[in-house]
Amino acid sequence: MTASLLRAVESAGAEVGRHDTLNSESAYQTTALADTSFLPGPVLLLGAPGVGKGTQAQFLVNKYGIPQISTGDLLRGNIASGSQLGIQAQEIMSTGRLVDDNLVNQMVLNRLHEKDTRRGYILDGYPRTLEQAHFLDSTLARLSLAPNLPVVAISIVVAYDQLLKRITGRRVCPICKSIYNVHSNLPTTAGRCDHDGTHLLQRPDDTEDVFIERMKTFNDQTAPVVAHYRNLGRFEEVDGDQPVEAVLADIESALLSLRNNSSLVSATSN
Ligand code: AMP
Repeated sequence: MTASLLRAVESAGAEVGRHDTLNSESAYQTTALADTSFLPGPVLLLGAPGVGKGTQAQFLVNKYGIPQISTGDLLRGNIASGSQLGIQAQEIMSTGRLVDDNLVNQMVLNRLHEKDTRRGYILDGYPRTLEQAHFLDSTLARLSLAPNLPVVAISIVVAYDQLLKRITGRRVCPICKSIYNVHSNLPTTAGRCDHDGTHLLQRPDDTEDVFIERMKTFNDQTAPVVAHYRNLGRFEEVDGDQPVEAVLADIESALLSLRNNSSLVSATSN
């Protein structure tokens, strides 16, 4: 890692906590309503841009009271705050390429030490390269962070044309991170978030040109990550081209069966 990257990561240590996604903050707020009888442990949501990882992660946050850790949201938080890390990440993100592995790994490591991860967490958009996957596997084995359960991976699959439509139609609330879509999930008042009335925005990388580059990046660098977790065995694939409730039901049943099957597997076998 270059010296300037290291400096960015060091300053990001503090930034990550401060600029974390509201989803993880809302996990604190919803804990009273959440199902705490089930220990979800570390859950990876894998899939191409637009498969619905963020939307599904929000449901799981509310259901189980565990945080969503979205590396994309963490990076955007750093861009919004003008941190050194954000300045370094912004240009790369606008092209659809991936931010440096070391920087993202360190950012995730900092986040995993927060106390709200003790019952589990949803990693959304991480790992995206084999190097990140190996870092995550070895870090969890080495640190034995609570909960001491092995990672389970759920891959959401959606056809290319559908993804293009979803990505270019996606609108996001910059405050609470709620996700809408001009084709399939309109807010009650046009252009305004249902929860806080904030003006909805289109992410700058949700254009067709950048989508094409992000798909290329996914096929080149993230598809091997999906294969890696498939080969490890604690892996399920879910059809993401269904109503969101049906996708959630499939994810929940995949999670329950993966947890039941993996409860006998030591976390150190990561
Ligand atoms: P996302 O919100 O997950 O679609 O991520 C938006 C952008 O952030 C990606 O296109 C990358 O430029 C960057 N990014 C997010 N997560 C990662 C990661 N795990 N590794 C590298 N870059 C990432």
